[in-house]
Amino acid sequence: MNRELSDEVIVVGAGVVGLTTAVVLAEAGRRVRVWARETGGRTTSAVAGALWWPYRIEPEALAGKWALASLVVYEELADRPEQTGVRLVEGVHGGLRLDTLGPWAARVPGLAETDEGLSARLPLIDMPVHLAWLRERLGRAGGTVEERVVTGLAEVPAPVVVNCTGLGARSLVPDPAVRPVRGQLVVVENPGITTWYTSEDEAEGGASAYFFPQPGGLLLGGTAEEDAWSPEPDPDIAAGIVARCAAVRPEIAGARVLEHRVGLRPYRSAVRLARELRPDGRVLVHNYGHGGAGVTVAWGCAREAAGLVDAGPAA
Ligand SMILES: Cc1cc2nc3c(=O)[nH]c(=O)nc-3n(C[C@H](O)[C@H](O)[C@H](O)COP(=O)(O)OP(=O)(O)OC[C@H]3O[C@@H](n4cnc5c(N)ncnc54)[C@H](O)[C@@H]3O)c2cc1C
Repeated sequence: MNRELSDEVIVVGAGVVGLTTAVVLAEAGRRVRVWARETGGRTTSAVAGALWWPYRIEPEALAGKWALASLVVYEELADRPEQTGVRLVEGVHGGLRLDTLGPWAARVPGLAETDEGLSARLPLIDMPVHLAWLRERLGRAGGTVEERVVTGLAEVPAPVVVNCTGLGARSLVPDPAVRPVRGQLVVVENPGITTWYTSEDEAEGGASAYFFPQPGGLLLGGTAEEDAWSPEPDPDIAAGIVARCAAVRPEIAGARVLEHRVGLRPYRSAVRLARELRPDGRVLVHNYGHGGAGVTVAWGCAREAAGLVDAGPAA
């Protein structure tokens, strides 16, 4: 295969995982095309809150490693928040103790136990802005994004294909191990809250109280319903979210509702980050199943996926 052709990669998926992987590959000199059924605001990635924190992602040790690698990148991107959508914001994980977390937690700068829980200054990412910025950065590195539905990975015409389809992998691979964990959010006019807050999930239905101050409003959450597929916001669930958040900060009770959002987290008992060699010599790299932390681990996983691309005979 001539060098020019063998350099070509098609990344399927334009969520945070696909775009970040595409950026890493394109900046390493690959010719990258992204193919995706949905782009920008129509992806699950655009729904995310999005706080840097390895929540509902397995396996924990690898997630911790990928998250820490990504943390370094987000800390740098936070120097230019208007462009990148990334800011460092203080907040508290209510009721959480350090000894319940894996060894990764000891390497998060400034994570400290207080009377309320764990306090930290962490990346908080405004996803619509961040996704647009990733796409622009990809474009600067020569990559392109096309809206296309893929019905079979074997038919994608490139020597290297990277599968970043999130929940779409369930039918595309097909991989029934990827399952939805439905999350609903309410966006309200911010009544003056400048720090983020999360509480631990209740065992039943994954209900919790969290709020993240974003430039476009205060994002209130949340829910984590396993195997729930409905993309429609449920008004009773929304009322429950507002009530739980208002129990923490009473001023939230009267805040004007701006928007309701729903997303299906692509959960898998273990993220699939692996390389397959096709019988025809082509390389297929999978990078999906990041559950509730795809933003948190995006750069660590993207670099590992790029390493798997380079490990193939098509390199
Ligand atoms: C309410 C909520 C809050 C969240 N909060 C956080 C948070 O605070 N921090 C955090 O790190 N994470 C958070 N997450 C999780 C995060 O959103 C996901 O882990 C992440 O978006 C997964 O990214 P992805 O790129 O794998 O998937 P997606 O964003 O779903 O992208 C998948 C892409 O693949 C494309 N695709 C799928 N099938 C096909 C096909 N057959 N052909 C072509 N294209 C296809 C889709 O169109 C899309 O472009 C949250 C999620 C939700 C729902």
